Amino acid sequence: MSRPATGGGRILVAGSINMDIVSRVGCFPVPGETLAGRGTSYHPGGKGANQAAAAARAGAACSMLGAVGSDPFGDALVASLEDAGVGVQSVLTKDGTSGLAIITVSDSGENHIVLSEGANGRLSAEDALAEADWSGVYAVLLQNEIPWATNEALLRAASEAGVRVWLNPAPARDVPAELLPLLDTLIVNETEAAAVSGLPVSGVESARAAADELLARGARRVVVTLGEQGCFCADASGLRLCVPACAVEAVDTTAAGDTFIGAFAAASAAGTDTESALRFAAAAAAIAVTRSGAQGSIPSRDEIEAFLA
Ligand code: ATP
Repeated sequence: MSRPATGGGRILVAGSINMDIVSRVGCFPVPGETLAGRGTSYHPGGKGANQAAAAARAGAACSMLGAVGSDPFGDALVASLEDAGVGVQSVLTKDGTSGLAIITVSDSGENHIVLSEGANGRLSAEDALAEADWSGVYAVLLQNEIPWATNEALLRAASEAGVRVWLNPAPARDVPAELLPLLDTLIVNETEAAAVSGLPVSGVESARAAADELLARGARRVVVTLGEQGCFCADASGLRLCVPACAVEAVDTTAAGDTFIGAFAAASAAGTDTESALRFAAAAAAIAVTRSGAQGSIPSRDEIEAFLA
């Protein structure tokens, strides 16, 4: 299989930057109860930041457009992106808190999550358009953890500038019909595919039906990720492709989708053909699920290549 080359255009990720605060407990407290935790850890996350870190670690020139708060988490979140090799010139600092996910994980493996959007919710369309620099950008990656009006403004501006727009509408939401033809790539898991297409999606055949429906509505390329069943990709030129997941012992699937998207974007920006880029992405995501955490679980390009060798 051909390996992605290095170089190519830049990836710009516009989206969320969160700190995940994870506490382990034997069981969940009932209302009014105080329970001793078994240790707390901090994990930089947020779908936007994860995708940016994944693209950079997979070898792309990548920069982040987003916002952190003026709290101490803000500096840590920016430092984590820089560690991954992501350009942070367009990460704004907003008064108040950063995006925070407060996560409690029980011994049975269940979790409770309280997500506070913090500074992500204060990234306005005006802020984003003032920061967006489209020169040399291969694609802009958008998700759904900043205000939709900001996403929509960026989507339209990128499209007018002739820059590819990749949209991962996660957490799941519908996408206005008139925006579908402006996307280069719509990339969704099963839940998101169902939300956008209006069809039930579980497994390859229903993913194919949802992708056909979205192409009929004007989408140019649709990738549906299917967890351990891999992914299905369809485009307007007639391409229909199933790429299996790589068999691994899964430890924590957090950020599997984000790692997949970042690595797929990095390989595509380097000029790799779609099938090879999807295989590269599947390998990156497989490595990520063998490790705990979000950004900390994302592999480097060398690790992905060693896995594929
Ligand atoms: P998440 O929300 O957990 O980050 P997601 O729901 O957005 O993930 P998935 O469809 O679950 O995305 O997974 C994305 C890709 O990651 C899959 O297409 C597959 O290649 C890989 N993957 C996910 N789970 C596994 C697994 N258990 N084993 C191997 N690869 C996996």
